[in-house]
Amino acid sequence: MMPLDSTGDTPCGRITGMSRSEFDFIESIRRRTGSSPLVPLGIGDDAAVLANGPAGESLVAVDMLMDGTHFRLDEAAPELVGRKSLAVNLSDIAAMGGRPVAAFLAIALPASHGRSLAERLTQGVLDLARDYDVILAGGDTNVWSGPLVTCVTVVGQPNGRSVQRSGAKPGDWLMVTGSLGGSLTGRHLRFEPRVREAALLMELVEVHAMIDISDGLAADVHHLARESNVGVTIDGDAIPISADVPSDLPPEERLRRALSDGEDFELLFAVAPDDGSRLLREWTSETPLCRVGTVTAEAGCRLVRNGNVEPLPETGWTHELS
Ligand code: ADP
Ligand code: MG
Repeated sequence: MMPLDSTGDTPCGRITGMSRSEFDFIESIRRRTGSSPLVPLGIGDDAAVLANGPAGESLVAVDMLMDGTHFRLDEAAPELVGRKSLAVNLSDIAAMGGRPVAAFLAIALPASHGRSLAERLTQGVLDLARDYDVILAGGDTNVWSGPLVTCVTVVGQPNGRSVQRSGAKPGDWLMVTGSLGGSLTGRHLRFEPRVREAALLMELVEVHAMIDISDGLAADVHHLARESNVGVTIDGDAIPISADVPSDLPPEERLRRALSDGEDFELLFAVAPDDGSRLLREWTSETPLCRVGTVTAEAGCRLVRNGNVEPLPETGWTHELS
């Protein structure tokens, strides 16, 4: 790694860094990262050591976030950038039906910022990690002349078995946690990854297929349908629309936002009808759960609204304004 306090030559030219040493920075993270029997060796060596869980399989997710694309450092607090960098990965582990165990944080820090950016960003990661019993077990720290880039890897374990996108069966109910749309006004930086909800689902029912909604319900329904080789009918009147979607918008525009905005990080999953109705009866989490559609043998994704059936495009649903 490139030391935080370095001024030196790299293969691509001269680089200036921060004033205090990299060692100090890493030691300060190390003191705050907690411990777990699942992570016998974390920060401080050349690699971390993780224990195998009873399932004998590990889940691994990686996501890179770039200033100007996934967040704007001139608008978002560094703590929230760190939080989101971890949260998107926790959401992916949850979508596999798993629980996260260890996180690895790689950062490319803009040389124009001081060490406080690294500190604040890491604090955001550590705070969310603590909430979900995740150990920050390693990473990499670099300084460069470009914008802030973070890349978090999370290793998790399945709650029993892993759930893929490919297991939806005709007749299954499609259900979602939470509500959708309007995330980009701020929720995308603060959302709760549905780790606990995934664990509860895995305990209560047999989840046939699952995905987290990052591209928008319309797009992610297509992903799930394609991987499962099935079709889907979405009930436009049943979609839970987030309070972040302005209530004074026309109803069609509100629906379009819930279908297309993306970055909701809610779980979309398929279960047998019996399991679906059982979930509605026995669901103990505060996070709402609702049925939004049905899996069909007939291919294609459709939207039913006011009794009319129309195609649901992968790009999201658009309507003609009259
Ligand atoms: P190496 O040169 O062997 O790759 P480093 O000097 O890059 O080791 O890192 C030393 C230790 O600090 C390693 O355990 C690494 O995983 C950890 N580490 C480095 N940067 C971070 C970071 N930003 N967050 C968490 N751990 C980090
Ligand atoms: Mg090494």
